[in-house]
Amino acid sequence: MARPDVLFVRLGSTFGLRAAEDELEAALRRAGAEVVAVSAARPREVRTLMATDLVWARAARRAAAVALRDHDPRAVLYSTTTAALLWPRPGAIRFDAPAASTGRHALVVGAGPSGMSAAYHLRRMGHAVTVVDAGPMLGGMMRFGIPKYRLPREVLDAEMQRIVDLGVTVKLEHKVANIADEMREGGYDAAFLAVGAHIAKRAFIPAGDSTRVLDAIAVLRSMEGEDKPMLGRRVVVYGGGNTAVDMARTARRLGATEAIIVYRRTREKMPAHDLEIEEALQEGVMVKWLSTIRAAGDGALTIEKMRLDDKG
Ligand SMILES: Cc1cc2nc3c(=O)[nH]c(=O)nc-3n(C[C@H](O)[C@H](O)[C@H](O)COP(=O)(O)OP(=O)(O)OC[C@H]3O[C@@H](n4cnc5c(N)ncnc54)[C@H](O)[C@@H]3O)c2cc1C
Repeated sequence: MARPDVLFVRLGSTFGLRAAEDELEAALRRAGAEVVAVSAARPREVRTLMATDLVWARAARRAAAVALRDHDPRAVLYSTTTAALLWPRPGAIRFDAPAASTGRHALVVGAGPSGMSAAYHLRRMGHAVTVVDAGPMLGGMMRFGIPKYRLPREVLDAEMQRIVDLGVTVKLEHKVANIADEMREGGYDAAFLAVGAHIAKRAFIPAGDSTRVLDAIAVLRSMEGEDKPMLGRRVVVYGGGNTAVDMARTARRLGATEAIIVYRRTREKMPAHDLEIEEALQEGVMVKWLSTIRAAGDGALTIEKMRLDDKG
């Protein structure tokens, strides 16, 4: 069988992604790519299985692994951002090292997806590349933000290793304070800054001294350490983005019997991905729609009901 350029794993038939997938597939073909498109899981299977963690991902991964084995494509493309979950086998695909060296040396500051993608491309062009990161491990927010149940660390580690294996030099626990000094001292020809955006959004909620208000980014980050955070039995998460949903699902996994998201608008207006919300609800996360927290204190919250105006 001829080796296709792209294996396109389609996942979206139940999640309203079909039109977007059709468009992407057509664009790939228009660009001249040989495409094999596979549907990773049957819609019925997806609906019944996704209640349990990763089962859906496992079903999809199995289908993708078979397609990958049968077709041996040059590249694999998944149709959702949870792609890394579906990688068929960590380490299954290796990149070719660059044929020739340009003699240039690039510095990449930050080892999140942005920095590591830059390192990959620069290395493939034949430049020497050094990635430095202030943190102790590669991956940035993929490791210190996105929970393990969505992005298993063995998958992330294998993805990072694939790039390092191209001959990328890595310096961890090295914070760059002055880029000009760093470049001069290291003899770099160019620098790519990929430091991310790590400051959590703060909501002002009047709170009594005894009230425990934590920032979700800090809690999710601490999940990566040995000592897991102690959150208690009843956890309220304020906000409606993916981070809020990740936080509520993480709270459930840490033993909270009640994890309640308080969000000021409706489900339709919630910025978190619908699939994530659906999975959270199936796991027992509760959501108080059209609500905001007016004040917090002494183990109680004052919730204010909201109403959408004409502008939503
Ligand atoms: C809870 C949560 C869930 C998310 N879920 C998803 C998802 O499902 N799908 C998705 O696509 N995206 C998701 N995201 C967003 C995604 O993680 C980010 O968009 C992405 O990580 C940004 O990549 P980046 O490389 O720009 O920055 P980062 O991943 O933030 O990496 C920046 C790196 O730079 C390093 N650094 C910073 N300053 C310095 C310095 N001075 N010197 C040296 N190193 C430095 C940091 O240590 C860090 O490792 C999520 C984010 C969060 C917080």
